[in-house]
Amino acid sequence: METDTITAISTPIGEGAIAIVRLSGTKAIQLTSEVFKGKNLQEVDSHTINYGKIIDPQTQEIADEVMVSVMRAPKTFTREDVVEINCHGGMVAVNRVLEILLTKGARLAEPGEFTKRAFLNGRIDLSQAEAVMDLIRAKTDKAMNVALKQMDGRLSGLIQRLRQDLLETVAHVEVNIDYPEYDDVEEMSHEVMRTKTREVHGEIEQLLQVAKQGKILREGIGTAIIGRPNVGKSSLMNTLVQENKAIVTEIPGTTRDIIEEYVNVRGVPLRLVDTAGIRETEDIVEKIGVERSRQVLKESDLILFVLNYNDELNKEDVKLFEAVKGLEYIVIVNKTDLEQKLDLDRVNELAEDRPIITTSLLQEEGVDELEKAIANTFFSGDIDSGDLTYVSNVRHIQLLNQAKQALEDAMEGIELGMPMDIVQIDVTRTWEFLGEIIGDTASDSLIDQLFSQFCLGK
Ligand code: GDP
Ligand code: ZN
Repeated sequence: METDTITAISTPIGEGAIAIVRLSGTKAIQLTSEVFKGKNLQEVDSHTINYGKIIDPQTQEIADEVMVSVMRAPKTFTREDVVEINCHGGMVAVNRVLEILLTKGARLAEPGEFTKRAFLNGRIDLSQAEAVMDLIRAKTDKAMNVALKQMDGRLSGLIQRLRQDLLETVAHVEVNIDYPEYDDVEEMSHEVMRTKTREVHGEIEQLLQVAKQGKILREGIGTAIIGRPNVGKSSLMNTLVQENKAIVTEIPGTTRDIIEEYVNVRGVPLRLVDTAGIRETEDIVEKIGVERSRQVLKESDLILFVLNYNDELNKEDVKLFEAVKGLEYIVIVNKTDLEQKLDLDRVNELAEDRPIITTSLLQEEGVDELEKAIANTFFSGDIDSGDLTYVSNVRHIQLLNQAKQALEDAMEGIELGMPMDIVQIDVTRTWEFLGEIIGDTASDSLIDQLFSQFCLGK
C-alpha cells in the first residue's frame, strides 16, 4: 500500500547541536536520495548510516553536512520506510533541509503522526503509543523508566492476560449454562465466577495503587511551602533549587510551550506549585481562613510546613496545623542555630505522625534528612523493585477504575445469587473497559484526539 511521505524535525526545537529530520512513507528513501550527495541511498542496505551532503536542488548549494539513516519497512518504528537525517549545522540548516524535502513532495507531519502510523500499522498498541508521549514529557530518570516499561508492552501484556482470563471464565460458565443437565450448574458457575472476579479485582487494585506513584513520577509532586513570615520559606526554596539541579521542562502541545520548574530530589520530581499563590504562602490562613486554606492546600501532593525554632508557637501556627490536618505534610523546624524558644513536645502532638525535621538552612544543616523524608513520603522503597507494572496515564487510570467498578457490580451480583447471564453483562463490561486501554475497543475519534496531543515530529 502506498502512503504519502511525511516529514518533521524530530528533536526538540532549539536544543542540542544535532537535530534530526525524520521521514516516513513510501517515498521516504527516494525523496531523500534525490537531494543527497553521497552513496545512492536507494541501493544501500537497510539500517545503515550514510555520510553525505544535502544539496538544495534550486541553487545547487550545500544545505548541510549530514548522516542519513536508512531503514526499510517493516522493521521500523512506523513499519514504513523511514529515513532519519542527522543535521549538524544548527537550526537554520535543519530548517533548510526540511524545506528542501517539502519542496520535493514530502508533507509536513501532523503532531503525533509518526506514532499514529506506528499504531495504525500494528507496530505498537494504544498504551504503548501513549507511553511514547509520556516519554517525551518524562521529567526524571524514574519517570522515564516507567514510560519505557509501558512501551515494552508490560501493561498491555497484563491487560491482555486479565481480559483473556475473563473471557475464558465467561466461556466456561457459558458451557455450564448450555448443559443444564449437570448437577448444581448454578452453584458451580457462581463458584468459578467468584474466584476469577476476585482475582482480577485484586490485580486491578494493585495497578491502581501503583498508579498513584506513577502519576507522581510523571507529573511531579505538587509541593507547597507554608509557614509564618520570616520562618525561612524562601531560604528553603532556594536551598532545594541550589542543591538539586532544577529541571526546566517544556510541555508540548501548546502553541507556546509552558516552562515549568522542577526540582529533582533523589529522583523524585518536586513541582513547586504556583497556583493560587500557594507556592510560598505567608498568610494564607489569615487571608482566607482555615477551611478555604485547606481546600487550596489539598490540591498539592506535599506540604512543607516551616516553623521557627527561635520563636514560640503562636495562634497562626496552630491554625496552619489545623489547615494541614490529614494532608501529606512534613514539619520543618528551622533556625536551630539560634536559641530554642519553640516547644517541640507541643509540635510533636500537633504534627500527628508526620515527620519533623530540624534544620538550619543558614548553616546548611538538616537538608539531607529533609530530602530523605521527602523521598520516603512517596516511595517507601518498593518503587524500584522493577517487577511492578506502572500505570501513569490518566486515561488508563480512569478505565481501570471503571473496570474495577463493573467488576464489583458483577461480584455483588454473584453474592446476591443473581442469574449468571446478568452477572456476565458486568463481566463483559469489565472486559470492554480493559480493552479500551490497549485500543481494542477504542473509537476512531478517541484515537485522533490522543495522537493530536503528541508533539510534532514524534
Ligand atoms: P520567609 O519569609 O519564610 O520566606 O523567610 P526567609 O527565607 O526570607 O528568611 C527570613 C530570614 O531568616 C532571612 O534573613 C534568612 O536569612 C533567615 N534565615 C533563614 N534560615 C535561617 C536559619 O536556619 N538560621 C538563621 N539564623 N536564619 C535563617
Ligand atoms: Zn519569603
